Amino acid sequence: MWSPPPPPKNEAARLVALEACGIMDTPPEERFDRLTRLAQRVYNADVAFIGFIDAHHQWMKSVTTADIAPSIERRKSVCQHVVSSGQPLVVRDFRTDSAFEGHPVAPRLPLRFYAGVPIRLTPDLVVGSLCVLRREPAADGEAIDLAALEDIAAIAVDEIELRQMNQALTRLTRIDALTGLANRRGFDEALERAVVRCRRTSEPLSLAMIDIDHFKVVNDTLGHPAGDEALRRLATTLPHAFRRTDDVIARYGGEEFAVIFPSGTEEAAREAGERLRAELKAVAIPHPTRGIVTVSVGIATQIGGDLAAETLIADADAALYAAKRQGRDRVLHRSAAG
Ligand code: GH3
Ligand code: MG
Ligand code: MG
Repeated sequence: MWSPPPPPKNEAARLVALEACGIMDTPPEERFDRLTRLAQRVYNADVAFIGFIDAHHQWMKSVTTADIAPSIERRKSVCQHVVSSGQPLVVRDFRTDSAFEGHPVAPRLPLRFYAGVPIRLTPDLVVGSLCVLRREPAADGEAIDLAALEDIAAIAVDEIELRQMNQALTRLTRIDALTGLANRRGFDEALERAVVRCRRTSEPLSLAMIDIDHFKVVNDTLGHPAGDEALRRLATTLPHAFRRTDDVIARYGGEEFAVIFPSGTEEAAREAGERLRAELKAVAIPHPTRGIVTVSVGIATQIGGDLAAETLIADADAALYAAKRQGRDRVLHRSAAG
């Protein structure tokens, strides 16, 4: 009689590892599709798939037929047995295997034969399975050798790790080396995403451009390394002023910084700009002629379908320029920029 298997002992660590893979709900990829095609061919199967199992669902990263649902509840999954035990599983015929009697779907599947092996990340964390299914049950006396399936699953693990390393490298190319903030490239991409999102939701999108006042004097008087140190200290101050988790803080270039406020109103952006000024007064980064480092902040806000990154940047820049002209150490919004 079938009963649902218990989660493995390392379920919590397994779920963390799966999350870290960043693979759930991603589009199909040829690097995995070729493995399921190969497994299907090698085992003369009708279907093969690579599935990942999170707390409640089994989700297929790659499946050789469109007839299989891309996601099923974990409690109905056969592969959960592989995840639970960490061992391969062969079911020669779901209809006659007493271990699956009473299973919510398996005995009624048009597919009767199943062989699955774990997709095991180091150290011993089974995040999913690679399996093959056939319409016909295993023939009498047919020996099922899982060595090839294990090898293909091992390649799938290599692909997952490679994919993860590529993602980490891509992330690195979006980070500024001096400050650890998003760099210009990271900023451009984040702004594009925010524009798309705010167009869809009809929420406002605000942008702040921040430029250090008379920064050249810092370099000229105290030297370039001291200038770099001032930039780093400013960078660590920014998150104290821009605290919302979806605020994107970037080094736009040189001694200019930018903050994107998705769904941020003009008022919220202004308040954040003022908070930055207050934080900088408290942190007191030394400036040779002004006492402490101050910034000028230009803000622009847009809302609605004709929102565009270029005009938002141009407007925030115009506000910044006006803030400089009006005497620096201030926050100006586009509408008040003049
Ligand atoms: P303003 O108030 O008009 O902005 O005056 P400013 O002196 O800040 O403006 P300007 O654009 O003339 O000078 C910016 C300076 O920022 C020039 C450059 O030496 C310095 N700078 C840009 N990037 C870096 C960097 O990575 N490290 C250091 N130390 N200085 C930088
Ligand atoms: Mg500048
Ligand atoms: Mg400046």
